[in-house]
Amino acid sequence: MKGALEMKKPLIVANWKMNKTDIWTKKFFSDFLPLTADVQDREIAIAPPFTSLVTAKALTAETEIKLCAQNMHWELEGAYTGEISSKMLDDIGCTYVILGHSERREHFGDTDERVQKKVHAALVSDLVPILCVGEKEFERDSNRTFLVIEKQVRKALDGKKLAHNNSLVIAYEPVWAIGTGKTAKPGQANEVHAFIRELMSHICEKSISTGMRIIYGGSVSPDNIDALMSMDEIDGVLVGASSLDPGKFARIVKFTVE
Ligand code: PEP
Repeated sequence: MKGALEMKKPLIVANWKMNKTDIWTKKFFSDFLPLTADVQDREIAIAPPFTSLVTAKALTAETEIKLCAQNMHWELEGAYTGEISSKMLDDIGCTYVILGHSERREHFGDTDERVQKKVHAALVSDLVPILCVGEKEFERDSNRTFLVIEKQVRKALDGKKLAHNNSLVIAYEPVWAIGTGKTAKPGQANEVHAFIRELMSHICEKSISTGMRIIYGGSVSPDNIDALMSMDEIDGVLVGASSLDPGKFARIVKFTVE
């Protein structure tokens, strides 16, 4: 995170994945909201399962908390049983949508081509894609981290022009760090974030690449958040497991920079 003068609001995103029911969502917000009522200098987004988006929207109506979806289809409507479109997410007040998460790439056939269609669809709607990219462990071990990330980013954005800094968020999520308790070292993550920002300066206008937020995801917890957010190139975090605990997630939101 850069110094005060040039600071962008850090973005802290909770990804609940396929966890929890609607009653739990109500309980989460009744615990979490008082803990973060005084937070102003960071942006919080919550990605509950689809079934709790409407409840989450209602419970955060009086706050600045943003709603985020965990996925969407690239078509606006039609015969796609079981799918959700950007039009529907827009309609219920989502601001963000997570696209290209490694769990979707791994288990649900989200290839680079599909991720591209989804990112393009989000960009033409009112949704901000949080594009997830990251290398697997064997790719890091064989020095292919930057190659893999460049391919994922270029492919997702190919043929699309970004309108401004807040049109897109990129989440660097090393696959080996997701849900494993193994976090990338702050310096390791920062190096990849700097690479992504440099890459983006060749893909879009320089002012957009400098102003956009590149966030980190992979076993973020209250124990490592301060060190991660002390890095110049880390503009926020995407949090899985630790976001299911209101106390832990509030502590992450309230990180302090060393
Ligand atoms: C994620 O879901 O994107 C994630 C980073 O999960 P976890 O924090 O549990 O590693």
